[in-house]
Amino acid sequence: MLRVTEIFRSIQGESTHAGRPCTFVRLTGCPMRCVWCDSEYTFTGGEHIPLEDVMNQVRQFRCNLVEVTGGEPLAQKSAFELIRRLCDEDFEVLIETGGYVSTAEVDPRAKIILDVKCPASGEEPRNEWSNLRRLRSDKDEVKFVIAELEDWNYAKTIISEYQLEQRAKAILISPAWGQIDLKDLAEHVSASGLNVRLQLQLHKYIWGPDVHGV
Ligand code: SF4
Repeated sequence: MLRVTEIFRSIQGESTHAGRPCTFVRLTGCPMRCVWCDSEYTFTGGEHIPLEDVMNQVRQFRCNLVEVTGGEPLAQKSAFELIRRLCDEDFEVLIETGGYVSTAEVDPRAKIILDVKCPASGEEPRNEWSNLRRLRSDKDEVKFVIAELEDWNYAKTIISEYQLEQRAKAILISPAWGQIDLKDLAEHVSASGLNVRLQLQLHKYIWGPDVHGV
């Protein structure tokens, strides 16, 4: 059984997969409380759905790319079984995780998109640092949500300390919606010379920042 907020098909809005058709399985609940969280509606409610019914809904969308997200998807033990079964059926599986729960038990066929929580999120002390050492350079991506310049400076420190340019397939620099001047951040990113990618959340430009399930 899984506690599910929504299952829908849309366009992938983030990561190197941005722009691709994608089915999203958004699980309910998160142990974190990032101050700029844009998915607080996942904290409560949700529907308890048997795993096989979740699989059936995903199959009906007929989309090869599937993202398991939340909330914090890995906070539910059954999520690991869902991921395994999606991989068994040859879906290309992305896991968007907030970085608090260990990724050690995630099926190795899935691709991890791992958040590192920066200071302005209020959740930086809860990063599970061992997750960074498990990143695989051929498939996993790491994301820093930047709400202020202090976050960008923090990201640069972590990138260097954990050698993320070598360790990750991509380093995503993602401005928190409405929190930081985009041109300012773009200038800092371009001047850094780092092998990082400034990413905007495509779905919010298409449907608006407050719409979900599309
Ligand atoms: S980890 Fe994600 S879902 Fe949880 S509070 Fe932070 S941004 Fe929101």
